[in-house]
Parts: sequence; C-alpha cells; structure tokens
Amino acid sequence: TYTPHAIAESKKDVLLGGLLVPGFDERTCRSRYDYTLYRKKTVRSPSAHLINRLRAQEALQRRCGPGTAAYRRAAERLEYSRRNDTGAAAADDGGCKYLVLVPYRGLGNRMLAMASAFLYAMLSGRALLIDRGESLADLFCEPFPETTWLLPPEFPIKNLEGLTGEVQESYRNLVQNHLPAASVSELPYVFVDLDHACTHHDKLFYCDDDQQFLHRAPWLLMRTDGYFVPAIFLNPAYQDELDRLFPRKDSVFYLLAHYLLHPTNKVWGLITRFYDSYLKNSDERLGIQVRVFDGDTPFKHILDQIISCTSREHLLPEVLLPAQEPPLTTPAAGAARLKAVLMTGLNPWYYESIRWKYLQSATATGEVVSVHQPSHEEHQLSGNTTHDMKALAEMYLLSMADAVVASGWSTFGYVGHGLGGLTPWVMFKPENLTTPDPPCRRAISMEPCMHGPPFYDCRVKRGADTGKLVPHVRHCDDMSWGLKLV
Ligand code: GDP
Repeated sequence: TYTPHAIAESKKDVLLGGLLVPGFDERTCRSRYDYTLYRKKTVRSPSAHLINRLRAQEALQRRCGPGTAAYRRAAERLEYSRRNDTGAAAADDGGCKYLVLVPYRGLGNRMLAMASAFLYAMLSGRALLIDRGESLADLFCEPFPETTWLLPPEFPIKNLEGLTGEVQESYRNLVQNHLPAASVSELPYVFVDLDHACTHHDKLFYCDDDQQFLHRAPWLLMRTDGYFVPAIFLNPAYQDELDRLFPRKDSVFYLLAHYLLHPTNKVWGLITRFYDSYLKNSDERLGIQVRVFDGDTPFKHILDQIISCTSREHLLPEVLLPAQEPPLTTPAAGAARLKAVLMTGLNPWYYESIRWKYLQSATATGEVVSVHQPSHEEHQLSGNTTHDMKALAEMYLLSMADAVVASGWSTFGYVGHGLGGLTPWVMFKPENLTTPDPPCRRAISMEPCMHGPPFYDCRVKRGADTGKLVPHVRHCDDMSWGLKLV
C-alpha cells in the first residue's frame, strides 16, 4: 500500500533527488525515469545549488539552442567573420555564447568528455552543443527539454574532428603569441585542444580565468577525449562555485552523468532484457570489466590477474577440489545463495574460463555462481552504431552491479563504475605481460581518472605536482600522474 508520503518519496527517487526535470515524454526515453527501478539506491543526492544551476542551464539551452533566433544570428556571425566580412559583427547575439564539443575515440572517452564539457558550459554560461559523429544521436536521448544539444549539420565550420591545436584560432596560439584579451572577441571562434596528448600551452586553458579572457569568445570549440573535471577544480576562479555545486567532491561524474546521459530506448531494451534474463534473480551481482591494452588475443597473465584479485579481495568464492566435494544431494529449492557475475570484454576467453571454473567445481561457500557476458566484439570498432550500442549497454549493466572490478586505464570501466556510484577494485595495468603484484586495489574514490592533467599551478604560475595542491584532487590508483577527485 502506498501512502501519499511514500508516493512523493518514490517520485523524488525517480527524479534522483531533483537532478532530473519532470515532464519529458517518458515513452520516448524510458531510461531517464526507469534507471532507478534497476538501481534503487541513490548513492549521492544533488545539492540545491546544483539543481538550481541545472534548471538555469536548461533555460539557457532553450533560449540559445538550434532553431532559435539567437542561434541563427550567432551562426551567421560565425559564417561572416570567417569570411572576414564585418557586416554582421555588430549583430546582437541575445547574450548567447556556445561551447561546441567534439568528443572522440572510444565511447567511454566520449562520455567522459561530454560530462566534463557540460560542467564547463554550466560554469562559463555557455550553451553546450555536441558534434554527433556517427553514432551519438542513436545512443543518447536529448538531455534538455524542448531543444536539442546536437550541433546542426549545417554548422559553418566543417571537419571538426580535423581541428588541432595547430590552427590559428587555437587557445595554444593565443597564449603562445601573447595575443591581447581584446583580440579574442575578433576571432570567429576559439578552439581548445584538450586531447590527452596536448601541449603545455593548450593546458593553460585550465588556468583561464573565464572573467578575463575566454568569456569574450562567442564560440568556443573544444576537442577532448577524456575527463578534465579534476583540472577545473584546480582553477581558483571556480573554487567557490564548485564548492556550492558539489559539497562532496567524490561524486561529480555520478551526478553529471545521471543528469546528462540517458540511453535511447533501443539501448535501454538491450540493458533491461539482459538484466531481467541473467542478473535480476541473483542475491548479489559482481561486475568484472576486462580491458586489455596488450592486444585482442587471450592472455594468461590477465586471467591470472582477475582470479587472483577476486580471490584475495573475497569477491568470488574459492572452489573445492573433487576430493573435498560433499556427496551430491538434492538441495532444498532456493536454499543456495546465487551470485551473478557480469563480465564485459572484447574477448570471450576470460569469461569462458571463469564460467568453466564454477561449472566444473562446487564452491567452498555453497554459493551458486553464474557467469555472463553480453557480447564479445573481438575488436574495437568505435563509431559503428550497433557496436557502440553494445558498449553503452554494457557500461550501464556494470553500473547495476553491487561491486565492480575494473581494468586500470580504461575509460569504459570508469564510466561503468562511475554511473553506479561504485568505488571499484582497480586491476593495475600489466607491464611486460606479467600479472601485477598486488593484482588490484580498492580505488580511492568512484570518480574517473584524468589521463592528461596539467602539471602547473595556476596560482603561482609555475610547474607543480598537481596531485598535491588541494585535498580533493589526488593522483589516481591506476595511473600515477593522473588526477582524480576524492
Ligand atoms: P577505453 O579504451 O578502455 O578507455 O574505453 P573506450 O570506451 O573509450 O574505448 C574502447 C572501445 O572498445 C569501447 O567503446 C567499445 O567500442 C570497445 N570495447 C572495449 N571493451 C568492450 C567491452 O567490454 N564490451 C564492448 N561491447 N565493447 C568494448
């Protein structure tokens, strides 16, 4: 029986404590409001300030987004100023400024890029537009009501993926050539290259005090393949606002991703049918994400690492030797505890080996262990829609586990445990085809790791160990120079 209070509470849960705005047509994007049916616990709630800023950003996206007069004028101005025609330069842009994100590489990389760019757009008062690439429109629902976040195909600058820090309009070029701040407003756009391998000058973007410099640029184009939120937390200009938005720093990705990223109905169908078939009826679910950077063929040292990690950390039960096994009896129906293991990976061999282990022998604890893997794509084919759909489904399935073991260095894994609000056991990246010792460790937080951080202190304007500047930005478990929020 539902009391009015219980109904109000359950509605609040569906909206993730006010993170999501009600009123979207539920049928067009089931995942938006149904995710909580699959993962009941809200791990962290949004602050009242974050909720206010999200509603303000939605209003901005509606006012400035594609299809509005403001967008048309801003796009025209961009087109004219590219042709050095000043005719439209004085036109009123309605106070709209834009951040065009070019996410690239694998899907995990792209999702981290989208969450990071969204936070930056919110902090800098820009409307976020996404270069959709081949598959993004088929993977994610629209996050903002009554508008679109997809960059219209007729956007005047083409071949966005081909832009690099070398172009004249790049932030790198502005800084290297000491261009005065006033000249920024005369450029058609400023391009920020935040590839994980970008240069020191590109990374000075992270020190940019928006009030001084970049706010003059009506169009900011950005290319990135990763999570750059930790670097924003190092910029003194944003510190107070970030403290109000995120009183707890360990769940920034969790909140941003659950606000922004909602799989389309097609992907949600893959997720829920797999979950209902293989995971729902278990007492406990363990996710094991296997990402191998040594090659796509099976490696014994990786299998050994998975087995050693799950055994040392008591995540999977030991098996009995044949001589130790009790005589086969008929157990009382439903008496044994069911443990489901969800494995993800490009290769099926690790999954088959672990499944065989638990088919061949009884467990020492009497638990029944079932092992499942949704796909084995063999090779990475990012950009192919069906391939990307499977990858997205598997990241969401990982997030629905009770615990996750993830491969170090993998953005796919970061998204899986980050969405679930799960602090993972990180398997260290093997060197020289050898199982690392120890094989894994419980991470310091559920946040993703930033792979290409700045090594520069914005305050004193010199090189620094950026993992030691503020208490909530530390080095990652899996990459000693990476940065993560804790
Ligand atoms: P990263 O390379 O591990 O940081 O993760 P990315 O997601 O950015 O790129 C890896 C890509 O390879 C994924 O997006 C998928 O296209 C593919 N891939 C890697 N591991 C898996 C997996 O376990 N399942 C599926 N379906 N695809 C995977």
